[in-house]
Amino acid sequence: MLHRRRGLPDDWVNIVETNVALWRVLDDDERALLGSTSDWLLRHKHWEAAQGFALVDEITVTIAVQAALLVLRLSVDEYREVSAIVVYPTSMQSRGVYAGPVRGTVTDGVVPVLGEAHGRRGPVLLAWDQARDAARNPGRGQNVVFHEFAHKLDMVDNVLDGTPALEHRGDFARWVQVCTEAYDALRAGIERPPLQPYGATNPAEFFAVATEAFFDVPVALVEHEPRLYEVMRDFYKQDPAARSSS
Ligand SMILES: [Zn+2]
Repeated sequence: MLHRRRGLPDDWVNIVETNVALWRVLDDDERALLGSTSDWLLRHKHWEAAQGFALVDEITVTIAVQAALLVLRLSVDEYREVSAIVVYPTSMQSRGVYAGPVRGTVTDGVVPVLGEAHGRRGPVLLAWDQARDAARNPGRGQNVVFHEFAHKLDMVDNVLDGTPALEHRGDFARWVQVCTEAYDALRAGIERPPLQPYGATNPAEFFAVATEAFFDVPVALVEHEPRLYEVMRDFYKQDPAARSSS
């Protein structure tokens, strides 16, 4: 099977200006870096459309740019656990056995799935309508692309535990302390906006939800969860709240 592996199309900026609202707050350096990182992802990862719909440039560019934002100040090698990106037209109806909302329970049935990040070298599955909506309409603390690619960053150290590979040993204790405090609160049913309650599912979901908030509603996160914002800022090496308010 022949797979098309080309980088950003010539009109990529038009696509991004239309579809990715965050583009407006980036400076020229960040835009250039986002372009080169997105180009790398398009060339080096396997992109595929599920259910035979056409994987047009608008789709790959809109998703690649959002995925690239997370690793803007990291190395693209942080996505080494991403083998492929499989795009569905809309939410997948997935039948199977899932972890239930309460620890130790399972749910059996059909559930709508906006995205999935399969373990280790497995693919990232995304619903295009969700990915586009999140890119166009930020500000709700929800972004399926940020969420699923955060899971992949978490997998780099071979454990999906809500703690990605941290650079410095000293960062680890602080990371665990800050995240555990907020996670335990969510577990206890305490609302911690802008974090989605779904973050209470397990530590891996907490990290994915915290990543969504960090990039999608950074000003709200720094205001309500300043310590969590700090550890996320140190990990991602970005300060999106400063970007948004400038
Ligand atoms: Zn998740």
